[in-house]
Amino acid sequence: MTEFDLISRHFQRPATTALLGVGDDCALTKVSPGMELALTTDMLVAGTHFFPDADPHDLGWKTLAVNLSDLAAMGANPRWALLALSLPAADENWLASFAEGFFACAQKFGVDLIGGDTTRGALTLCVTAAGEIPAGAALRRDGAREGDDLWLSGQAGFAALGLQHLQGDIELPEPLCRLCLKRLHAPQPRVALGLALRDHAHAAIDISDGVIADVGHIAERSGLTAEILLHQLPRLPEAVPRAIALAALLTGGDDYELAFTALPDKRLELARIAAELDVPLWRIGRMAATSDAPSVQMLDPEGKIVPCDFLHTPGYDHFRESST
Ligand code: ADP
Ligand code: MG
Repeated sequence: MTEFDLISRHFQRPATTALLGVGDDCALTKVSPGMELALTTDMLVAGTHFFPDADPHDLGWKTLAVNLSDLAAMGANPRWALLALSLPAADENWLASFAEGFFACAQKFGVDLIGGDTTRGALTLCVTAAGEIPAGAALRRDGAREGDDLWLSGQAGFAALGLQHLQGDIELPEPLCRLCLKRLHAPQPRVALGLALRDHAHAAIDISDGVIADVGHIAERSGLTAEILLHQLPRLPEAVPRAIALAALLTGGDDYELAFTALPDKRLELARIAAELDVPLWRIGRMAATSDAPSVQMLDPEGKIVPCDFLHTPGYDHFRESST
């Protein structure tokens, strides 16, 4: 099979909204009037981001989903994607299943695959995704304001619990196990929530590196301290020891939930959005002014700072030197 057979067999589908899709030197698209383009790229490397023998259908889904999560975190409506693949071999069954997972995600969220690149090499999957946002309406990390509530969607931590289960560190009972593995392998990007938040949130981020690490980015970029109220965190799964579930919630990555900040007078509206989209929204804290460096703090119900080891556990960093 040639490279071109591979592309046309597995990745060439008629573009539904682009002017020109796969097959020429470039794809062509038109941005809708009054809209800005949001662009993002994410790379998944075998052995680093997924097990080399991972299910190809899930991988196809996740490769696109993690990019759509970044678009959602800006409030962008996903439109187009480019797919750069490095493959050790042209394995027909693997490619067919990968493409099926990829296009399942693309179809669900209205994305056109309009181009890419295909080479031989270590298994690496890289998507560039583009979405549209009304000019000036993007939910940026630096947009949080003093006094904002801090919110978190869904069930952060479940993907990390699933990974710990696969690594043999914990044993999850059913049906929790299935749910956690689904979160890990086939995350649902919070696209509808991101769109709904455009008019209500000041700042947003997706939780790919852990709640504390990612909320820390909002705090830092906004020059504020994020106060997380321990008693307002999402309910933890009871089948898992509390310390493990709490650590997964606060420091586990790969969940692709959204953390965002909004004025307290948006609480009713946000409750309405949660019900309408059937996505739990947890008000986990608030954004406070700081005289020190911006940071994340844990508070108890009396408002006292809880010393917490988690705060010193940074999010995953591919290039951080190990201290040992
Ligand atoms: P070029 O020589 O211009 O880089 P290629 O031969 O690499 O073009 O690719 C031919 C066409 O197929 C281009 O339109 C490119 O965008 C598209 N393409 C290549 N690989 C993929 C892929 N994995 N998924 C989708 N489109 C792809
Ligand atoms: Mg090329």
